[in-house]
Amino acid sequence: MTGGPGGDADVVVVGAGAAGCVVARRLADAGADVLLLEAGTAAATPLAGLLDIGPGSRVVARHPATLGDTALELPRGRAVGGSGAVNGGYCAPARPADLEAWGQGWPRRYAVGLARAAERLRPRLAPMGPVAAWVAAAFPGRVAAVPQARSDGRRVTAFDAWDPAGAGVRVRTGAAVRELSWAGGAVGGTGGARRCVGVVLDDDEAIAARQVVLCAGTIGTTVLLLGSGIDRAGGHPVGHRVQEHPELLLDVPAGLTAVADAGLGAGAGAGPDAAGGLPPLLSHVVRLDLPVRERGWVPEIEVRPYAVPMHRAIPGLGEVPHRIGVALMNPLGRGRVHADGSVDLPDDPGDATALAEATAFVAERLGIDGTVTRSTSHHLSGAARVGEVLDDSGRVLGVEGVRVADASVLPSLPLCGPYYTVLAVAEDLAARMVAERAW
Ligand SMILES: Cc1cc2nc3c(=O)[nH]c(=O)nc-3n(C[C@H](O)[C@H](O)[C@H](O)COP(=O)(O)OP(=O)(O)OC[C@H]3O[C@@H](n4cnc5c(N)ncnc54)[C@H](O)[C@@H]3O)c2cc1C
Repeated sequence: MTGGPGGDADVVVVGAGAAGCVVARRLADAGADVLLLEAGTAAATPLAGLLDIGPGSRVVARHPATLGDTALELPRGRAVGGSGAVNGGYCAPARPADLEAWGQGWPRRYAVGLARAAERLRPRLAPMGPVAAWVAAAFPGRVAAVPQARSDGRRVTAFDAWDPAGAGVRVRTGAAVRELSWAGGAVGGTGGARRCVGVVLDDDEAIAARQVVLCAGTIGTTVLLLGSGIDRAGGHPVGHRVQEHPELLLDVPAGLTAVADAGLGAGAGAGPDAAGGLPPLLSHVVRLDLPVRERGWVPEIEVRPYAVPMHRAIPGLGEVPHRIGVALMNPLGRGRVHADGSVDLPDDPGDATALAEATAFVAERLGIDGTVTRSTSHHLSGAARVGEVLDDSGRVLGVEGVRVADASVLPSLPLCGPYYTVLAVAEDLAARMVAERAW
């Protein structure tokens, strides 16, 4: 599998992350000769519950970012499975209301894609641990279980579940795509070349393909599109107005979690699981809405009672207090991904006020007065949206031979984590490529 056969292909899929594994599998099942190129490694930690994004991780790329005045780094999975190999693993489907803005036809397309994704991934519910039970008790009727991509105590990635190599896909790891190749030279250059004919790897190896499908994640795909001048040629807003779910982390006093553990059955979900890994970081969330704001905006809040302190879930992270998350799920703010892979995260004052109020409300209801830390959910999406940069089938408008099928395509973020949605939408776009015999 690794370092596998190179050579030209009907379809080159760039990135063996969440979307890339889905697309590669489905196209190979339909008879295409598919080459799946992954910049990262062949293996990531199999332990469910662990997020291998800490210092020293060998399976993430780190992208410089700003969050207001603060500089930070965004880790993204760089291994087969992509960010799904290092994420929190919670798999919530979008609700119909989340898809309203996506346009006619999407509720049905989404439902079919989700059913296909569910057959492969089979997410499962996890027991409610003591911290989740403590938070849920404070918000009766507001708690929702969030299934996990895991089986027998082990993480299940899209690479495991869709098994592209098992369908005959040629998988190459350590194969970073540097740029797209265009017939006749650069897009928008003299002569106005318009057809993508393959890719060039970091080591100058050129690979020809009838169709290139970008699944390099919101940041990686933006870098490749901007590097090709797609924005200049077509006036496309690539990398503009990306969305993220801002999150505030609320310290839970150590004494209080101990009391919660004792009172609600320590060990029900906070200890090592059967496989010796950790329980899922998040088994349940609490959903709240705040009072209506200007222009009818109702801030939707997701409270995340993380099962363990982050240093227990993130290898190499120094000790931090146990924290719960309070995230804004329908933010107004929009950010930007730049051509060098750096990111300006959204920083909207209206979002900040709503989130601060929500966090104060949650703290009061829980009877705590903890320190609050600004954070982000790692849910960045929408850098090349369907309907703006892409047509309904994921084709980049104004050029030929290149499509996008990853988190970049989402017209808007769902009011939950995007992982399951990325998989469902990739299923939908792959089905369209098959129906159109895109190669
Ligand atoms: C730390 C973290 C926690 C998260 N927790 C959750 C959660 O609990 N629930 C949830 O719903 N969502 C979560 N997410 C978000 C979710 O994982 C992503 O939305 C999803 O994985 C995006 O899928 P993708 O296919 O767009 O990109 P990815 O899964 O990131 O895959 C992109 C792949 O492309 C590869 N690649 C990039 N550039 C190149 C190149 N030039 N050449 C070749 N290969 C390349 C990368 O190495 C990577 O393997 C989390 C994300 C992170 C980072």
